[in-house]
Amino acid sequence: MSALTDVPAVLWVAGFQMGLYALMWLLSLALLRESRAAVAHWMAFMALLAVGFLLAALRDEPRQWLTYNGANAATVLGFALMRRGSERFMGVPAHDREQLAVLLPGLALFAWLGPERADAPLRVVAAYGLQTLILARTLWTIRPALAREFGRRTMLGVVVPGTALVAVLAALMLRQIVAWPEVSELQSRQRVNVGLMLTYLAGTALFSFGFLTMVTQRLVVRLREASMRDALTGLFNRRAMNETLTRAWLRHRRTRSPLAAFVIDLDHFKRINDSAGHAAGDAVLVRMAALLQKQLRGEDAVGRAGGEEFWLVLPDTPREHALALAERLRQQVAAAGLGVTCSIGVALAQAGDADAGQLIARADAALYRAKEGGRNRVESDGAP
Ligand code: GH3
Ligand code: MG
Ligand code: MG
Repeated sequence: MSALTDVPAVLWVAGFQMGLYALMWLLSLALLRESRAAVAHWMAFMALLAVGFLLAALRDEPRQWLTYNGANAATVLGFALMRRGSERFMGVPAHDREQLAVLLPGLALFAWLGPERADAPLRVVAAYGLQTLILARTLWTIRPALAREFGRRTMLGVVVPGTALVAVLAALMLRQIVAWPEVSELQSRQRVNVGLMLTYLAGTALFSFGFLTMVTQRLVVRLREASMRDALTGLFNRRAMNETLTRAWLRHRRTRSPLAAFVIDLDHFKRINDSAGHAAGDAVLVRMAALLQKQLRGEDAVGRAGGEEFWLVLPDTPREHALALAERLRQQVAAAGLGVTCSIGVALAQAGDADAGQLIARADAALYRAKEGGRNRVESDGAP
């Protein structure tokens, strides 16, 4: 017996491999704790495929319902869970009604048909047909969201192999239709079945590796985003502002377009905490952040550098514009009913600056003068 037609052995291997993928998803669920609903669905998908293949490996004479119809039911149910999990993962609304409309008649058919040879062609057509349909619909519904979140390349990396698998499954369905009433079942010792197993192994390997990578990618993006943001106001934090400032400064040095920076500090902020409480102080910071954000153009960046100190980085902004904006901000804060005013230090990047830090140092020095000069004022580093 050639290894290429030793189908039961290959079915065992495939079932074992699907079981390992289910285990891998279980580990991801327990350790990574990301996208948990989707991961749980995918774990069940792999477990049901494992059950389907292992049952098919046990097929024998006399035919038993479980190893024939039961194997088909497990596989098709697994596909439906795969779709549900994938849609959940991509934030696409679940198509539960459509899924039930496909699944219930399918499962009823598997239940109603016997395992006998006479019933087999219809069962085989239904099994391949349902897998084809569910997989095709999955690819169709998640494709736009995949491209949006992970980019076109990743989307194609899912859709191209997925579509190839759809084509293989559809071809096997057609093959059974043409062969009617001959039976082309999975366990029969045909090379095409070994080919299908290899296709399944490749497909599920790609699926598991691909989606696990996406789960991880999403986690990385979320952590990176969180590491850039101030938790109270949602503004950029000091680290992010330092990066933004450095990028803007390098661009300024390349293009010589003017670059302004503000350091803004609330006046006597400690008194608000002392009189109205820390929570009231926090609320002022949040409103201050919103006020600043409203004034910005697309290229500008605002961040909370710490405490009640905010930084603004303003590319392509000449001195007169910067000073006018700072004065407008100062007036708006004073008029906003926050119960607090602010002092602003303004600086412009100069030809002699060695790095972006010098710009901020001059804005800081200007802020100090504004405080010394009585607060609720704008000071600048003067014309260079
Ligand atoms: P000045 O006009 O000289 O800037 O006086 P100030 O009171 O604003 O300055 P100071 O640096 O003495 O005090 C800053 C206060 O800001 C002290 C601290 O309790 C408060 N603060 C810092 N971070 C937060 C925060 O996240 N929430 C609240 N509610 N208060 C904060
Ligand atoms: Mg202050
Ligand atoms: Mg301060």
